[in-house]
Parts: sequence; C-alpha cells; structure tokens
Amino acid sequence: MLPTESIRRVLDAGLAKGADLAEVYLENKESLSLILDEGRLEKATQGNDIGGGVRVFYGNNAAYAYTDDLTQESLIEAAGVAAAAGENANNAQVCADLTKGESRVESRIERPFEQMSTQDKAGILRKMDEVTRRHSPHIVSVQCGYTETRRRVWVYNTEGVWAEDDRSFLEFQGQVAAQKGDVRQSSATGIGGQVGLEFFDDRDPVQMMPEAADTALLMLDARPAPAGEMPVVITNGWGGVLFHEACGHCMEADFITKGASAYTGLVGEKVGPDFLTAYDDGTIPGRRGTMRFDDEGVPTNRTVLIEDGILKEYMWDLTEARRAGRASTGNGRRQSFRAMPMPRMTNTYIDAGPHDPEEIIRSVEKGLYAKRLGGGQVEIGRGDYVFTVTEGWLIEDGKLTAPVRGATLVGNGPETLRQIDMIGTDMSLDPGRGMCGKGQWARVSVGQPTVRVPKLTVGGTE
Ligand SMILES: [Zn+2]
Repeated sequence: MLPTESIRRVLDAGLAKGADLAEVYLENKESLSLILDEGRLEKATQGNDIGGGVRVFYGNNAAYAYTDDLTQESLIEAAGVAAAAGENANNAQVCADLTKGESRVESRIERPFEQMSTQDKAGILRKMDEVTRRHSPHIVSVQCGYTETRRRVWVYNTEGVWAEDDRSFLEFQGQVAAQKGDVRQSSATGIGGQVGLEFFDDRDPVQMMPEAADTALLMLDARPAPAGEMPVVITNGWGGVLFHEACGHCMEADFITKGASAYTGLVGEKVGPDFLTAYDDGTIPGRRGTMRFDDEGVPTNRTVLIEDGILKEYMWDLTEARRAGRASTGNGRRQSFRAMPMPRMTNTYIDAGPHDPEEIIRSVEKGLYAKRLGGGQVEIGRGDYVFTVTEGWLIEDGKLTAPVRGATLVGNGPETLRQIDMIGTDMSLDPGRGMCGKGQWARVSVGQPTVRVPKLTVGGTE
C-alpha cells in the first residue's frame, strides 16, 4: 500500500505530542451489489472505497482522524489532528521497528470474483426469481440480491505491529412473499461466506429459494401461535442468533467495563448448565467473522467464552484491554476507516452438547419448536430480547404436529441461558448471512446445536 518509511513518518507524527501509542489503519474496499426486485434488475452498484485513519492514545483516551486521500501528506495531517487531542511533554515514546505479523489464519480464495461477468451474476438472480415464481401460484413477491466484497486492510502501530488482511465475501439473499385471500406471509433466506467463486462448487443459491417459498406457503395455512410460558426448542445453526444477540453482546468488554452488562464481574461464575460450552472463534476457515488479524492488527483467536457452564472470558479490543491492563482477544473491529474500532464478536457459537436432537423434541409434552428465527429486538448489553419465529411448530406429546405463525420469543438472554436444560449433539453454523449491528455493521457467524428451554414466554402477534 504505502512504503513502510511513509508509515513510520505518519506514526512519528502521531507520537509528536507525547502520546503513548499511535496507530495507522488503511483500507481498500471493492464491492459489487446487484438487486433483482420483482424480476427487474433494480440496482447494480459498484464501489471502491479507499481511505485511512490515525488513532492516538493518551492513557485511556483515544482520538481519531481519517482521510480518503491515501498519501503520506494527508495521513500526516490526520496524525497531527489526532495528536492534538492531548499533550504530555514528559512522555517521549519512540516507534518500534515494524515487523510483519504472522497469523494462523490464511486468507486465500481460489477464484476471484472477476472470473465471472456481472451479466452472469445477474443471470443467477433471474434464475432464483423464476424458480421461485414457478414453485407455486401463491407466490406474489420475490426479491433477490447478490453482493461481493473484497476488503483489504493494513494496520500498523508504534509498538511495532504490522498486520495485513485480505477478506473476500460473497453472499446471496432472497425474500419471498406468498398470499392466499388476504393472508400474506413472507420468508427471508441467505447463503454465503468468505469465499471466491469456488462457492459454486458445493453450494447453489437457486436451491435455497424454493425452501424459503415453502416456509412462506406453510405459514399461510398455519394456525396462530399459542401464547404464554411453555417449553421451547430452538433450532440448530441460525438459531444461534439468539445466543449472539442476547448473550454474546453482554460479553463484549465495553459493556463490561461500563457495568452495563448482566455478566459484569461474573468470570468464574456459573452462567449456564454444566454441559454448555461456547466460543468466539475468529479463525474458522471461510466464515463471515473470520480474520487473519482484527482491525487493530491483533491475530484472531478461539476464545472460550463459557466452559462447562462457567463464564471464562469476555471479548476485548485494544481500548478496553488497555483500560483493564491486559491483552486484547483480537475482537477489535470497525465498519470502515471512518470509524474507531470497538469490541465485536466474530464467529460465536454454543458447542455440541450431550442430547440427541430427536430426543429433545420427544421430551416435550406441549410446547413450541422454533424452526426459523427472524429478526429480533434486543437491548444489547442487557440482553432483553424479543425474537420473531418465522417458522414455528407445535410440539404435542413429543411430536411436531402443526405449523404456527406469529410467535415471538420474549426473555432475557443471560436468564434464558441459565435455564437451558438440554443441548443437542447437532452443532452447526449458520449458512452465511449474519450481519451484526452495534452502531457499526460487522459480518459475523452464529451457531448452536438444538437447545431446549423448559420455560420461555411465547408472545402472540403484535
Ligand atoms: Zn449482534
């Protein structure tokens, strides 16, 4: 990107007023996004976003300035702006030699996006649309989208960090609505990963559309969901979104140090059943939350969050780690060079447990099976949640008997986690559509086995 001598000069400018630490972050993001709305190609957006920023620390306070002009002059100017946020005449830090960092994660894709024309990519969306409409006369609306993103980042700091990462993401999304009379039901789906065009070797975005259509069709004839407290069984894979949103965020260090999390001060304490272990793992090949280094140049890790029911660790970025006098866990992420990093999850999941997933269903006399979860509203940090169940089933005498619609799950993440009494052997990660919002967007993966909560509040339709 820029020669290391230039980076050194920018870092020196960051230290000029006696800062403790200066950091340079550079980014080059190329993206293509196609949207097919009701059979028409609505949008084809091609973008290239390049820029960089300089962050300067005085003790626990950090200042940040960025520019979209990646020249030595502009970056030195940004460093000057950030450095001017403080002054410590007695502190004369010197920039350490920059050493290119190693990571155990490889970022290599086999076939770059350019090997397929935009026209062919749009052709796949057309096929997704056609197949869905042909699937049933009750399908009244179809939207599908394709996005590819290549994001290259460079991070340097005055402690000698030099980290490079190259992340390529490909994703397909679909949305289907079905209607009978005045009943209308919709269903969303998505598939993707950190992958090049080799994605198509073993996955087919066209195939996911009839499945999404089936969910919408099934819900047309579904009866209203029962309301009240009952046993709830939550599906594996994407079901892990509940753990991510309602528990994972509570383990992010910024909520912890602010005392805003239900998990503050609970490391070493019991937060779930003995057979519950959960990880945040930024090193799993091909996943959306995987990185060689996080956006602060720290190699990503497999962090044990909960082991045998005991809370083990939070997720740390550099700012919070400095505050606590410890090391980062490699969870510092940012949406782009325009933003400062914050503690974020990567690929977060509950590990496999001891119970046969079929046995879990069989164990419920009367309850709800949440087969597909939709969006949720979550008080992140505190963990209060309301999640919609886009495909629900009644469980009666240990069997799935009838589809139900309009169910919502209402509760508090840490409380729900404590109550889990069965965890399946069928851990899986989501199909690759997770996007986490926390003021800034970040791609993530979620996952879990089938789990049972013996008593959860199920709400009806709003
Ligand atoms: Zn989230």
